[in-house]
Amino acid sequence: MEKEKIIEGKIFADLHSHFKRPSNHKELEALLEKLSYGISGITEFNRGDCLRYNELITFKSDLFDISEVEQGRLAKIHYYTKNSCGYIIKTQEVREKHVSKFPGVNNFEILAVGCSGIPDDISLKDAVDIIHYMGGLAIAVHPYTTSTGKWPIKYRLINENEEKHLPQLYELMDEVEVFNAQNIQVFPFTNFLNMNISNEKAKESIKRTKFKGIASSDAHSRAFLTEVFGTGLEQSKMAGIYLPRENDIFESLKHNIVTSNFERLEQYVDRISFASCMFL
Ligand SMILES: [Zn+2]
Repeated sequence: MEKEKIIEGKIFADLHSHFKRPSNHKELEALLEKLSYGISGITEFNRGDCLRYNELITFKSDLFDISEVEQGRLAKIHYYTKNSCGYIIKTQEVREKHVSKFPGVNNFEILAVGCSGIPDDISLKDAVDIIHYMGGLAIAVHPYTTSTGKWPIKYRLINENEEKHLPQLYELMDEVEVFNAQNIQVFPFTNFLNMNISNEKAKESIKRTKFKGIASSDAHSRAFLTEVFGTGLEQSKMAGIYLPRENDIFESLKHNIVTSNFERLEQYVDRISFASCMFL
């Protein structure tokens, strides 16, 4: 357990993190250990293959107990050996490809917290209505970073035209992610691919709004375990928020987020881990 993440009376939450499906028992146990403290979002996409909450809760291991606390939304993972306990929460990254955009604007992405299955081809407003109907929260993620849809440079800063639409996006949101641990300065001493700027702009953009701004890792674990580059699991919980530790985990998470009762932990993933997740 990472000691720096444990603060008396607080619970640490990294709501935006993507995991790969474990392919053997060793990978399964490494994953469950990572999830056995704090709160981890199991972030699904509509596109491609990713580990989903509904699948994770069916996993079996003698070292861990996985039990649902709120059906279809929140589960508890108890790690017997260390007597530690964490929560996983269903989240979905809703991408512009799947949700029709503002006219002429690309690629805003939102995080649905506490639900998933938001369908494709509906307006962003409808997506947020569904999220709220299902009792979830809608959070704009990395609002200044957008996908290029191309390899190897998969992302870019949004342009001025796209930036003009942020107030419309924010109007629909419950919060905004202003620190994303993937927004690293890829090369030292140059602003080429310096995505730190994206976080700085996001922080600037919520000044004089109702938002405080959350942090998350946006962890991406890789297609295989490698001792050299790490497993990708090291990215999970690099960034997140500290919330008061209260009994009703999901309702208290929601309440404390919308009332700005949390503190951010901001740590970037390291360059090697970032590069191997992005490019390998
Ligand atoms: Zn993401």
